[in-house]
Amino acid sequence: MAEHGDTERPAAEWDLVILGGGLAGGLIALAVAARRPGLRLALVEQDRLGGNHIWSHFAQDIATDDRWLVDPLVTKQWSSYDVAFPTFRREMATTYRTITSERLAEVLQERLPAAALITGVVTSARPDQIDLADGRVLATRAVLDARGPGDLAHLELGYQKFVGQVLQLARPHGLRRPVVMDATVEQLDGYRFVYLLPMGPSEIFVEDTYYSDSSALDRPLLQQRVAEYARNLGWEVLGASRTEHGVLPVVIDGDFERYWSSTGPELAKAGMRAALFHPTTGYSLPDAVRLAARIAQAPDLSHSALVQLTHDHAARTWKGRRFYRLLDTMLFRAAAPTQRYRVLERHYRLDADLVQRFYAAESTAADKVRILAGRPPVPVRDAVRAIAHRARRR
Ligand SMILES: Cc1cc2nc3c(=O)[nH]c(=O)nc-3n(C[C@H](O)[C@H](O)[C@H](O)COP(=O)(O)OP(=O)(O)OC[C@H]3O[C@@H](n4cnc5c(N)ncnc54)[C@H](O)[C@@H]3O)c2cc1C
Repeated sequence: MAEHGDTERPAAEWDLVILGGGLAGGLIALAVAARRPGLRLALVEQDRLGGNHIWSHFAQDIATDDRWLVDPLVTKQWSSYDVAFPTFRREMATTYRTITSERLAEVLQERLPAAALITGVVTSARPDQIDLADGRVLATRAVLDARGPGDLAHLELGYQKFVGQVLQLARPHGLRRPVVMDATVEQLDGYRFVYLLPMGPSEIFVEDTYYSDSSALDRPLLQQRVAEYARNLGWEVLGASRTEHGVLPVVIDGDFERYWSSTGPELAKAGMRAALFHPTTGYSLPDAVRLAARIAQAPDLSHSALVQLTHDHAARTWKGRRFYRLLDTMLFRAAAPTQRYRVLERHYRLDADLVQRFYAAESTAADKVRILAGRPPVPVRDAVRAIAHRARRR
């Protein structure tokens, strides 16, 4: 780790400081603590470790070699899930798993020394020094910035926005598995669906979700719609034990290097800050696991090596996901907002393995042809116009 030969600087207190104790920062901290026990590692979080999330993922999206990192965090899993559209319902035989922020925080507290979990607001970060709002200064040999999204103005976006609540019901809901998309609901503000996770016999997570052109989120209204959805199913709601909301980027196009530099080109980055999320779903858990495992195995964790590793990994990932940005162009620029559901409806009629690879952002060339072929659910003329417009702007 001896990157700085400068003897005049105060001795570094830490070998690596991770900024942001959310999903990406938390996973990297766990992976490094497990695989590099001698390294002096600190994790700085301004608020609650882990934040306030229920993070779901498909089990196959995590490589077998990386399961050791995720398995202790999983709070619930189901062996299949459903999707429902106006014209059909389908069970997908894929294991679906959930991690909560509370569980991530609990495991971090178990595995890292108390002194390594620092509560504080980072006000400035240099490769060798972190300043906190309360005046503390952390001297370090390397910094990894995982403080959530960078400047999204460098990306052309649609949005996936939602409000979700864990509801306690008077009687069992009877659902045995998640409904990842219930798109039989009224189509409003773009593509709308409800996401359901049965947490217990009388406990269910209900999330009202929109693929929308606008990032504006009317939280009280969406909360009302969650209540309305429950009422329509005849569920008597006793209360809500948890409420979360989000506005996730759906990437149509953008300049990766500018996005990366918007949070300082001199820092290593992870998570949303490194643009490591699925362009269509906005989900980042599988990417966060992959990068955490890579970092923990890297032979050199000096600052410059970490900058290079994270930048090159993120740039390669961005480049490899052009296809999904093209699909997002069709979804947001060619499909009329109220007809967007048809794109997803058609998608879910395709082969189950293809759907799985799509969510893992690992679509094969044949998958891509299959997804684009057939009778497209958006007018061809509008699709061509949207793609041509995107190409001209670039
Ligand atoms: C409610 C919600 C649900 C989601 N569900 C899923 C899901 O099911 N599956 C999935 O894959 N993705 C999901 N996502 C999308 C994405 O994976 C998450 O947003 C994920 O948490 C992003 O990870 P991250 O580490 O980049 O950012 P975060 O998890 O947001 O972590 C960033 C951390 O940095 C801290 N921070 C910021 N600034 C400072 C500062 N100045 N000083 C100190 N700390 C700071 C924040 O407090 C935060 O804890 C969800 C997003 C939201 C908002």
